[in-house]
Amino acid sequence: MKLYYDFHTHSCLSPCGDTDMTPYNLVNMAKILGLDIIALTDHNTCRNCEAAVKVGEAIGLTVIPGMELCTAEEVHVVCLFPDCESAMNFSDYIHTTMPPVKNRPDIFGEQSVMDEEDNIIGTEEILLTLASSVSISNVCGLVEGYGGVCYPAHIDRSSYSVISNLGMITEDMGFNAVEMTADADREALVKNHPILDGAKVFVDSDAHYLENLKDAENIIDLPESSARAVIDYIKSLPKLK
Ligand SMILES: [Zn+2]
Ligand SMILES: [Zn+2]
Repeated sequence: MKLYYDFHTHSCLSPCGDTDMTPYNLVNMAKILGLDIIALTDHNTCRNCEAAVKVGEAIGLTVIPGMELCTAEEVHVVCLFPDCESAMNFSDYIHTTMPPVKNRPDIFGEQSVMDEEDNIIGTEEILLTLASSVSISNVCGLVEGYGGVCYPAHIDRSSYSVISNLGMITEDMGFNAVEMTADADREALVKNHPILDGAKVFVDSDAHYLENLKDAENIIDLPESSARAVIDYIKSLPKLK
């Protein structure tokens, strides 16, 4: 079945995410825009995923629990998990790899943990946008150990991307897909980085505000609409080399 997807979105738990980006609003707006399957990928945490998954179940939209991990090299990586339990186990581990720097909501923004009915049920204390101590060379194996898959985020961007920060993607990183923005010059990227020739490219919104969510246009063909199906599909792709 052909599904409109967006596997990279943020909620109000990301300090840079708008306070209106509650799990309830995010998932409902995705539904209005015609998306079938989305992932919630806050910076270095999965604590709002359960609420988003519950909203999705109530309105008939598949939500994948995910995270945008910031590696030690300050490279952003989209991580997707089969269920909330796996995602939260990963999230709890990542928390231990973060510098113990407290968020300053007045400077960086609030980091609100929400339930599925727009109630604030907690606040994340540490600043979520800092780099974890997980190295990019370990990220694929680590995520796999929690049952998930991952791919490097917005590789065409000039910051927080594997190409901007490290200059290249190498085979030993172990990725089998990449994310590019909708504006990426794919031809130039493949020319400069032949490892990308034939690579599966995901195009996600990376929305931090409701208005950044895009109309349904990017399609994935899966046997069913589920987190498991997405993970199995990405796992089945050949490794970049
Ligand atoms: Zn990012
Ligand atoms: Zn992002």
